[in-house]
Amino acid sequence: MKKLIAGNWKMNGSWAEARILTEKILEGIAADKGVADTCEFVIFPPFVHLGVVKESLTDPDSPLTYGAQDCGLHENGAYTGEVSAEMIRDFACEYVIVGHSERREYHHETNEIVKQKAAIADSNGLKVIICVGEKESEREAGQHKEVVGAQLVESMPENASVENTVIAYEPVWAIGTGKTASVDDVREMHGFIRQQLGERFEEPERVRILYGGSMKPDNARDLLATDNVDGGLIGGASLDAEAFLAIAKSA
Ligand code: PEP
Repeated sequence: MKKLIAGNWKMNGSWAEARILTEKILEGIAADKGVADTCEFVIFPPFVHLGVVKESLTDPDSPLTYGAQDCGLHENGAYTGEVSAEMIRDFACEYVIVGHSERREYHHETNEIVKQKAAIADSNGLKVIICVGEKESEREAGQHKEVVGAQLVESMPENASVENTVIAYEPVWAIGTGKTASVDDVREMHGFIRQQLGERFEEPERVRILYGGSMKPDNARDLLATDNVDGGLIGGASLDAEAFLAIAKSA
């Protein structure tokens, strides 16, 4: 299975910058054939920049695709400010992220909400990256497996399958902080997540498990070589085409 290198642009950049960044990533992939043999790429621009990214990604065989950072909780209707999974799929997005810790923290999204969003995304044919991860206090209290185990069980919808599900393990204390989980911690948690997926799916090895949290070119090689790490969900470093591609090359 190829590594999945995912770039979460969060709420950054202008549409002109989104176009330039997409084109630089495309050029970088084209310039190094080896990287497309080992990695698939997906970028997550802000909703209003999906259009310029779509315009740049016209080749259906490109190893670079795009997705949305979140989706609405409902099918459609009077939900001002929301964007539905159906609209996201209609825009030819392949992926959607649900349950990012910034959504969980700043928008009070519970596991139940994340599960409903994932269910709607699944039923609209999107691949869903479900984010899980413990807070620093939970790790210090030795509760990290318990927290992540509960998030997994409670956030995965009934219609989740090995084809449409990706899990991103993102320890909250490592996101945007420059602190990275140690390789041993990542190995332990990814092994645990794989084992939990085994309770749910017959072929748990077909579900990609991404690591996210201050992944950079200088730490990516060790993280991506760790057992059960099938790619990365990259925030800050995905805004710099060179850094994003350097992470992929280290895979
Ligand atoms: C993220 O937002 O998913 C993330 C991992 O961010 P960063 O790489 O900046 O820590």
